[in-house]
Parts: sequence; C-alpha cells; structure tokens
Amino acid sequence: MKAVAPLWGQMVWATQDRFPVVASEPWGRLERIAPGVWGLVSTPLEDRTTLCNGGIISGRNGVVIVEAFASNDGARWMTEQARRLTGRRPTHTVITHYHGDHTDGLRGMVETPGVEVLGTDVTIDLSMQNGDEQSEVLETVTRIGTRRPTEIDLGDRSVILVPRRGHTQSDLTVEIPEESVVFCGDLVWNQMVPNYVDAAPSRLSAEARLLRAMDASTYVPGHGPLADAMALDRYIDLLGDIEAAARKAMDRGISSEQAGEEYRIPDGLGDWYAFQPTYFATAIGAWMSELEE
Ligand SMILES: [Zn+2]
Repeated sequence: MKAVAPLWGQMVWATQDRFPVVASEPWGRLERIAPGVWGLVSTPLEDRTTLCNGGIISGRNGVVIVEAFASNDGARWMTEQARRLTGRRPTHTVITHYHGDHTDGLRGMVETPGVEVLGTDVTIDLSMQNGDEQSEVLETVTRIGTRRPTEIDLGDRSVILVPRRGHTQSDLTVEIPEESVVFCGDLVWNQMVPNYVDAAPSRLSAEARLLRAMDASTYVPGHGPLADAMALDRYIDLLGDIEAAARKAMDRGISSEQAGEEYRIPDGLGDWYAFQPTYFATAIGAWMSELEE
C-alpha cells in the first residue's frame, strides 16, 4: 500500500519520451502529439501560470486552443505558442468546464482579435455565478448546447466538441477522430488524484469508461502527464477503488473524513499525486451522498 505524498509529484511529471517537447517552462511543457496537434502538460507544483492541461489544434482554416487556463499570462503564453508553432493566431478557444483553473485566463485569451470562445450553456451560466469579474468576457462566449456534439470545421480537419458530465454538471471533450486524440478536460486525470468537489461520481465513472471504449491513441487529461489506454485503465481502476472504499465506509458507519484518512491507493496503480490530502475524503464523501440518495 502506498501513501500519497507531495514529494512524489516530482516523479509524476518527469518528462516522458513518447512525444517531442517543443516548449518547456516552469509551469509546463508542450508536447507534439500529432501533426498540428500539441498538448500542454502543466507542472503546477510551484508555478501555477497555466495550472490545467490544454492544447493547440491547427487546421487549414483555423487554430483552436483548448482551455483558457488559470491566469491571463497563461492564456497569453499559449496564444504566443500557437502563433509560433502554426504561424497564425488562434481563431477559437474551447473551455471544457467552468472551474477557475480552466477559465480564469479568459481575459488574456480574448486579447487576440477575432478569437471565438466556445463553452456550453451550463458552463457559461456556472462561470457567471462564480463572480462577475469575468462577466463582460463571458457574455461574448459562444454558447453551445449540451444535447449534441458541435463541430469546428478547420477545412482539412474537424474538431468535435462532445458534451458530457460527471466532473461537473457540464463537461466537454475535444476530439480529433482522425488523429485518435481526445482532450478530456477534467473527466480524466492521470497520476493525479481527481477532484470530486462538484462531481457526480457514477456519471464520472461511466464517462471514463466511455472514453476508454473509444480506444484512442492519446488522451490529454485535465491534469497530469499525457495518457494512453493503459493509463486510462489505471484511472478507471482508481475510480472503482474509491467507490468501493465509500461503500465499505457506509457499511462500517464511518465518516468520509475518516475513510479518506485511512484510504490508500492499491499497489499496481502506480504513483499518484494529490493537490491536497483531503481529495480522498471529498471523493468518498461525494460517493456516500450519491449512494445515500
Ligand atoms: Zn475541474
């Protein structure tokens, strides 16, 4: 049984050699996943300029940035990278859900003339409830529905925005079928313990299994290193183990706090880093409230 300690975070973000790194900064590194597709792996131990993962997708008629990141500087840096790598400025930005580490850089993102920001209706409404600091920008965001996928046609390539939920009430995945790449937002975390603060636990597990069933070559998680199908299997196993821990806690009549403190990640699932040690209690608590209903 393994404890989760911040120290281990260093290993979690160790550079992998699957993809070439085209930019490396204290807050993260940009990896070239496929022609015209780059994934940002944020390394937020000390520098939270970007904080969440995201990416850049380039096509004949446009350039899409995935996420607006945790700060205006993070958004500006990704915009600059898009220009450097593609020779053009971004035409679209997609926000996967309303959490601040994915949206607080919106103002920096819309400094690019003509950039269209897309998010679901629910995401925009929830962002607006978060405070009015961004409301001016949020009013300009293109609202997309949550009933069916939306296509961004880049001419020689399609980017598909698929509405889902589970991490929050409204999540989006950004999918490039012909390259077998899925940007998962926070529906997937890799080697980092997922945050259940707004989660619908059974829905989250179901979406993770649906994403795995796509058998994509590369999954860009919301946090942690780029993932393949095997990494997704480990994530799904972790979600299942957290569910089992919640059920056991209910049988024993103990609190989510106590169950979270006692919780250990099973051997075989590798090293996982937690932003905060309370994440297990939050996850178990979310399951317990769902199971009590
Ligand atoms: Zn989130």
